[in-house]
Amino acid sequence: MPDCIFCRIAGGEMPTDLLFEDDQLVAFKDINPQAPVHFLVVPKKHIPDLPALTAADASLLPAVQRVIVKLTRQLGIDGDGFRVVVNTGAHGGQTVSHLHFHVLGGRALGWPPG
Ligand code: 5GP
Ligand code: ZN
Repeated sequence: MPDCIFCRIAGGEMPTDLLFEDDQLVAFKDINPQAPVHFLVVPKKHIPDLPALTAADASLLPAVQRVIVKLTRQLGIDGDGFRVVVNTGAHGGQTVSHLHFHVLGGRALGWPPG
């Protein structure tokens, strides 16, 4: 999708240190971290948001789960715990219209979110 920042990162058009890459997904640190550990897991395919997932994307969510488990272990936040967030739409606070999973950890996170 032209002009989509996450398509550009996933396509290698924007130099970004990747924490993970395979045929379906990339993961990289958030540019504006909200916790000591804050990374994004992003499908390479341009999917605008969570409701836009279809049966054709059936393998995606299990793949996201595997990457989250792998990276939270690698980054040492698996023991104390972490949060996975998918902001969706205006009220959800979504600012990039390309599906992404925030993973936050490294400190105790408040609830409810603002
Ligand atoms: P949203 O607000 O859509 O849930 O999350 C978008 C996230 O993408 C934000 O946390 C923002 O800091 C992050 N972000 C936006 N542009 C870039 C970028 O160019 N590089 C990286 N690494 N993160 C970005
Ligand atoms: Zn995109």
